Order: sequence, then C-alpha cells, then structure tokens
Amino acid sequence: MNLIAHATLSWELFKDKKLTKDDANLLLIGSIIPDVCEFGIVDERQSHEKGLEFFKYLNNKNYYFGLGVILHGDRPRALDWYGHQYIAGKHQEISKIINDYKKCIGNLSQEWAAHIITEFCFDHLILQKDKTIPKRIYAALQNPKVESAIIDFANFFEIDKKHLKALRKIIRSKHFYKFLSNFSTIKGTAHSFRDFIFYKGVRDKNNSHLIKKLRRVTQSSLDFFRAKILDRPLVTLFERCTELVKIDCDQFILDVNVILRNMIKANKL
Ligand SMILES: [Zn+2]
Repeated sequence: MNLIAHATLSWELFKDKKLTKDDANLLLIGSIIPDVCEFGIVDERQSHEKGLEFFKYLNNKNYYFGLGVILHGDRPRALDWYGHQYIAGKHQEISKIINDYKKCIGNLSQEWAAHIITEFCFDHLILQKDKTIPKRIYAALQNPKVESAIIDFANFFEIDKKHLKALRKIIRSKHFYKFLSNFSTIKGTAHSFRDFIFYKGVRDKNNSHLIKKLRRVTQSSLDFFRAKILDRPLVTLFERCTELVKIDCDQFILDVNVILRNMIKANKL
C-alpha cells in the first residue's frame, strides 16, 4: 500500500497539463482508491486488474478518476506491478535488517513485513519531495465530483451500501489524514507501520464492524502519543531500511514515469 507514491506519481505525470481542480482531485483519489481492498471492502485482484473495464464503464465521465485507477494497478502493468518488482529486488537486503529487529514486526511474517516496510520507506522518501500531498488528498476527498466517482467505483466493484458508508467514514476521518501525514518523518512512518500491523491483526482475528476496528486503531495511536513511547528499535529499523531504498527510489520513479506515459499511449487513453 503505497498511497503517497501513487498520488505523487500520477500528479507528476499530469503536472504540465494544467488540470482543472476537479480533474486533479479525481486523478488523485482514483490513483489511491484501489487500495481500499486493504479494508476488505473489495477484492484486491478485482480493483487492481479491472481498471480498463472500469474506465470503459465510466464512459468518459470522471475521466481522470478512471485513469487514476488504471495508473495504480497490475493490469495493464502500472505502478503496483512495477512497484512489486522493485520490492522483490530489495527483499533480501531488507529481510537481513528485519532479522536484527524481529520483535518489532509482531505476528507478521518476515516476508510480508519486508514488503510493507519497503513500501512505507518508499512513501516516506517520496513525501520529502512534496509534503503537500496528504493535504491535497484530504481536500480532494471533500470534492462532490470525487464523491460521485467513488459511488461509480462502488457500483462497478459491487461494494454494498454498508461498506460504502464505512469507507466514506474511514477516508474522511482525521485518522486517515494523520496516517498519510505521518510519512513526513521516519518516526511517523514507523508509527503508521505500528498502526497498520495492529489494524491487520484486528482485521484478521475477527470480523467486527469496520468502524469499530478503526476506533481501536485510533485508540492505539492515542495511547502511543499519551505514553510518549519512543519505540527506538522500530525507528532504527526504519532508518536503516530507508537508507537502502534511498539508493534508487528516485531512479525507479523516473523510469516508471516514462513507462506509464507509454502505457497511456499504447492503450489510447
Ligand atoms: Zn495497490
């Protein structure tokens, strides 16, 4: 889940096009929405592989939202597909570091932890380039055009009303904004990771209502701040992994930028 990278990359792709505010908002949210699968609201393969079908379903309505969904996914090959290749290339080195901090990853498998940690370090580094992205995402979510595009997304991917309501609450919550803006520092990134594994643990253990789960995650954040816990080993783990990702993440973004431009042309979008 690379929300910051998805939003930044699609922003970069169209920054010279001088999009209207509505279109820019649609593009931003379209490029992150496929990851609502993390909340168990939609099937991951569907939201990551049916971008072209969804784009056609929109029939030129909310064009940039549909394009954002395509730019996110695995089919046609877009950011997630290439991102996962990148993560696989880092796996061995990141795993070696995790070995020194096994207690920090809770019940996560080492393989899954390496995946998430690489993604989170990546988002931390990307956010250094443009720290306004979390604010822009949050503002875009208040746009009525985006709201109607999310309903199109829910209809196409057969998300029921109850889950749609929960989804709206989650993405408009201050907690979601906090989750995104935390990536501006390494400590914050480590904190978001802690929240994420807590959430995953809750999600995998029971099927209680989504909002209840979110409240529990928020509670964990509050406890974290109240107790002023400085989880030093976890922060060090992130510092060391960030150094590894730093080596080539800029080059990766440049390469993918070119690839995505070609993909847009090849699919006549
Ligand atoms: Zn994704």
